[in-house]
Amino acid sequence: MIPAQFEYAAPTTVEEALALLIDHGDEAKLLAGGQSLLPVMRMRMNAPELVVDLGRVESLQGIRDDGDALVIGAMTSYQALLDDPAVHEHLLLLAKATETIADPPIRHGGTVGGALAHADPAGDLGASALALGASFTILGGSGRRTVPAEEFFQGLFETAVGENEILTEIRFPKHTGWGAHYEKFVRVSHQWSIVAVAATVRASGGTIEEARVGLTNMGDRPLRATSVEQALVGKAATEDAVREAAASAAEGTSPPSDLNGDADFRRHLATVLTRRAVLAAAGA
Ligand SMILES: Cc1cc2nc3c(=O)[nH]c(=O)nc-3n(C[C@H](O)[C@H](O)[C@H](O)COP(=O)(O)OP(=O)(O)OC[C@H]3O[C@@H](n4cnc5c(N)ncnc54)[C@H](O)[C@@H]3O)c2cc1C
Repeated sequence: MIPAQFEYAAPTTVEEALALLIDHGDEAKLLAGGQSLLPVMRMRMNAPELVVDLGRVESLQGIRDDGDALVIGAMTSYQALLDDPAVHEHLLLLAKATETIADPPIRHGGTVGGALAHADPAGDLGASALALGASFTILGGSGRRTVPAEEFFQGLFETAVGENEILTEIRFPKHTGWGAHYEKFVRVSHQWSIVAVAATVRASGGTIEEARVGLTNMGDRPLRATSVEQALVGKAATEDAVREAAASAAEGTSPPSDLNGDADFRRHLATVLTRRAVLAAAGA
């Protein structure tokens, strides 16, 4: 289908983009990579009067090293992230999750900020953002504020970004030397996650010293498997020990039931995928 008619603006600064949002209120919509927004506009499930394209705002592009963290501009594409060696060195989990997203054309078009602002619970970056302790910078009429990942995701397609606000960058603390794995369960290639598990592990001499585990599509937002994380500390990275710790992966989750699987199946998947992800992250 063809989208409903709309006005188009392509500002070159984030301040200009914000001014357009504030002037037009809920009639305006930000456009990042367009991979999620344009399909819903074509189906006329969303018909903004003004589309504000962030594609020419240079300050939202790129990845910078900020000492103990990498800071990723909201308009950085998945492919630019994958092409940056620093991401593989310091944020291996994020690279592993990004590699699983769709296909090359979508990875060239889709952006890190667009995906996280969209907050689809089956999206692949949210669980890694949680597990890595990311924080989000949001610009609004009264200035900039920073929100931790635990508060950023607020529900189905809902985040801490308000109507007249722009997500400008995401700060990821470096996890240099941590092993990482993103275990994604799909029925056909290039599918969205039915369930996926993001695990990053600091291990020494075969013992897990610290672990961070995020779950994709196990509720209306990405979730942390904190009981698994606690159970893994001090454990040997062996099949039996990790299986035991992973048994509580579905605790406190509320997965959906749909044509890809019911909630019980997803709970079972969460334990299996957590075991696999942690063992792979620990190099076992
Ligand atoms: C066929 C197909 C398969 C896909 N498979 C996967 C998959 O397996 N895993 C996965 O994770 N994703 C998948 N995606 C989604 C893809 O990752 C999208 O790119 C992503 O969800 C949205 O990113 P975008 O840059 O395209 O954002 P857009 O579509 O441009 O925007 C998405 C939403 O975020 C808002 N927004 C964008 N930028 C900002 C900002 N800076 N501040 C505030 N709000 C903003 C927009 O207004 C819009 O509401 C798939 C998409 C398609 C079309």
